[in-house]
Amino acid sequence: MSILVIADHNNQTLNGATLNVVAAAQKIGGDITVLVAGSGAQAVADAAAKVAGVSKVLLADNAAYANQLAENVAALVADLAKGYKYVLAASTTTGKNILPRVAALLDVSMITDIISVESANTFKRPIYAGNAIATVQSDEAIIVGTVRGTAFDAVAAEGGSAAVEAVAEAKDAGISKFVSEEIVKLDRPELTAARIVVSGGRGVGSGENYHKVLDPLADKLGAAQGASRAAVDAGFVPNDFQVGQTGKIVAPDLYMAIGISGAIQHLAGMKDSKVIVAINKDEEAPINSVADYWLVGDLNTVVPELVSKL
Ligand SMILES: Cc1cc2nc3c(=O)[nH]c(=O)nc-3n(C[C@H](O)[C@H](O)[C@H](O)COP(=O)(O)OP(=O)(O)OC[C@H]3O[C@@H](n4cnc5c(N)ncnc54)[C@H](O)[C@@H]3O)c2cc1C
Repeated sequence: MSILVIADHNNQTLNGATLNVVAAAQKIGGDITVLVAGSGAQAVADAAAKVAGVSKVLLADNAAYANQLAENVAALVADLAKGYKYVLAASTTTGKNILPRVAALLDVSMITDIISVESANTFKRPIYAGNAIATVQSDEAIIVGTVRGTAFDAVAAEGGSAAVEAVAEAKDAGISKFVSEEIVKLDRPELTAARIVVSGGRGVGSGENYHKVLDPLADKLGAAQGASRAAVDAGFVPNDFQVGQTGKIVAPDLYMAIGISGAIQHLAGMKDSKVIVAINKDEEAPINSVADYWLVGDLNTVVPELVSKL
């Protein structure tokens, strides 16, 4: 069986999420080809060629793919997909933008957010914000699916030696164009890739207090910072901090939920974390149901005390 994995990247580096998709592809079994569609993306193709388990890398290097415009990349992928049984991508913003279009162009249904490979055509995926798990079977000629990275342990980034082949096709749909982007530069680890996440909710009270109380803790732990939607909506932190159903899905070794009540939409984004610590002044807050450690107290005194002891 042949599997085409769409690389997630920024033309310079391969996003670690691709390593999780390759792991899912290995569970299906078969020859794994990684497609790098970008511009000036040779370094990404070289990195993809080194990924354990990858047999071939296709590099479509063209200005039309520079900013991952979904209309252009989807047209390319749909064309290449005809030679494969599976097309997989990470459940990242990019993957979720491109693959539904690929499925539509191929006129097949799509499986989103695969969390388990049961057999060659049967997969598990969360529904109702992760409160139920659906087992779905696909009889499509080409199976198109996004993979939830946190559900699969990444394959090694090194160890492979796949050949890199150039793809000359330049698909410019001509219906969208890249205008600009604003990227927040952080000194901290990226939220979805971090081993430790310190998250703050409405309980922190303000953006100023978020940084005053949580930054020292995150600094001590070398943690990424996250937030509930309430904290984001209140403007405490930017929206790329949001963890949950409509934010990022994380599963770090340690997740600290501080001043977060634990609404199901928040739990949907973090409940697979290995160890969950909750700090909340309300001993009946629902976060309690998933927390491994649970500290009842005012975060304004408890967190600085914790920092002083670390
Ligand atoms: C369609 C939809 C999608 C959503 N998606 C998301 C999502 O992706 N992510 C998300 O997070 N939410 C999401 N929500 C919102 C969600 O329902 C909750 O409203 C939100 O998670 C609440 O955030 P919170 O826990 O910070 O705030 P609250 O529920 O207000 O909880 C604040 C907590 O802080 C505690 N607290 C207050 N002061 C202190 C103090 N001094 N010390 C210690 N503890 C204190 C309180 O006891 C309370 O438990 C979504 C909702 C909908 C309808």
